Amino acid sequence: MPEYETFEHDVLVIGAGGAGLRAAIEASAAGVRVGLVCKSLLGKAHTVMAEGGIAAALANVDERDNWRVHFADTMRGGQYVNQWRMAELHAKEAPDRVRELEAWGAVFDRTKDGRILQRHFGGHKYPRLAHVGDRTGLEMIRTLQDHGVHQGIDVYMEHTILSLLKDGDRVVGAFGYERERGRFKIFRAKAVVLATGGGEGWRLAMPAGAEVSVGVVRQGMVQIHVPGEEHLDGTPVTRGNYELRMRHGLVVNRRGQRFGNEYFFQALGAQLHAFETWGEHRFINIPCYLIFDHTLVDTYSFAGLPPGYTAGLAWVPQGHTLAELAQHLHLPAAAIEATVARFNAHARRGEDPDFHRPTESLGPIEQPPFYGLELASPPVSAGTIGLVTTPQAQVLHHETRQPILGLYACGQIVAARLDLGVGYQAGCQLMRALVHGFLAAEHAAGSV
Ligand SMILES: Cc1cc2nc3c(=O)[nH]c(=O)nc-3n(C[C@H](O)[C@H](O)[C@H](O)COP(=O)(O)OP(=O)(O)OC[C@H]3O[C@@H](n4cnc5c(N)ncnc54)[C@H](O)[C@@H]3O)c2cc1C
Repeated sequence: MPEYETFEHDVLVIGAGGAGLRAAIEASAAGVRVGLVCKSLLGKAHTVMAEGGIAAALANVDERDNWRVHFADTMRGGQYVNQWRMAELHAKEAPDRVRELEAWGAVFDRTKDGRILQRHFGGHKYPRLAHVGDRTGLEMIRTLQDHGVHQGIDVYMEHTILSLLKDGDRVVGAFGYERERGRFKIFRAKAVVLATGGGEGWRLAMPAGAEVSVGVVRQGMVQIHVPGEEHLDGTPVTRGNYELRMRHGLVVNRRGQRFGNEYFFQALGAQLHAFETWGEHRFINIPCYLIFDHTLVDTYSFAGLPPGYTAGLAWVPQGHTLAELAQHLHLPAAAIEATVARFNAHARRGEDPDFHRPTESLGPIEQPPFYGLELASPPVSAGTIGLVTTPQAQVLHHETRQPILGLYACGQIVAARLDLGVGYQAGCQLMRALVHGFLAAEHAAGSV
């Protein structure tokens, strides 16, 4: 019989991005025993990559802004299919959540009179995004961690949760393993808060009966599908597009041509609509393909695998030369070679005159083996799949539509359609990570 180490907490938070950290801080402040589990090291959640800012109607740059305008923008952008109560709560709560980040030490950019600077971004009537240069997510996670580690939270880094534990109808903990030695662990808890980002939280919650929603946020998007990750009806689940913006990679259409700035998913997404009216009479940039080299695999995490881990990449077509790769992907080899050669020549100089990709995202594609895969272009974004919750972050059961006792969810794992409808306002994800995290913990800690 394998031996399991067992840990006991009142509230167990799974995930240490913006949402999980904020939840852990709130639960701990309520005086309950909190455990925080994350797959990687603290600070390595996707939250760290966010750049643009956090949407909150602070009215520091334009005094006409307030939560009502934010709420109206969210409802209008979502074409009024959003859950109004959730959108309202988010708009109301966001300013406090940003101000407390400042109080905990976040160094936001400043207006001339010393207040948090806010910038204009898509979907907002007035400048609303509190930001720190292009590293808002980094500052947010740094601040939450610095604040959280002094709160007596038990942190379990490099622990992957494999399943939730139930006792009757109630979720009572989670089961997982520690990465370093592979030892199994049991985490008992009176309430579990899922904050696993765009990843697998929905898969953990489904056996507990959770209602899962497929996103309906309309926005051109290219994403990665990892074989084996399918919905119950067989439709592919697709993952975010983080790999697209990494160095040593680019995206081409079936003609072997780049068609946009890979750094901004919006830039590629917009080009998915390009249609060849005559000739082949079909979409020009669908399907499209990510082409990358071994340096990317060696340096960064690809499809969630550790850097340099190639054994898990057998499903990705590969070639010792670009021509061999092109053959596997049924793409024109000469065009791929020409596109990569042009990209490399410019990348070595830190330039992208064709699509103006930022210098820091450029790196030549030259280290074999070369990899490529066809990208999926689901008509969705902002979380293709998510859990359905109440406005207080209780996860709903798919049959009863009642909260599953002891189970909460916050941040990106929550179905975007709930608060965003079929829209997407810039800065909404960091905002909902903070607000959801706060609300989930408030309710969870109050229930134990
Ligand atoms: C490049 C980029 C730019 C962005 N820019 C913006 C922006 O400007 N504004 C904005 O609002 N949003 C932006 N976003 C989106 C935003 O960053 C995310 O939606 C948000 O940070 C998600 O936070 P989260 O806490 O829900 O999840 P994450 O930050 O993804 O954290 C998930 C956590 O769950 C853990 N985890 C997952 N599965 C398990 C498991 N099985 N066991 C244990 N732990 C697990 C992970 O280790 C991690 O700690 C951007 C995203 C990217 C990638």
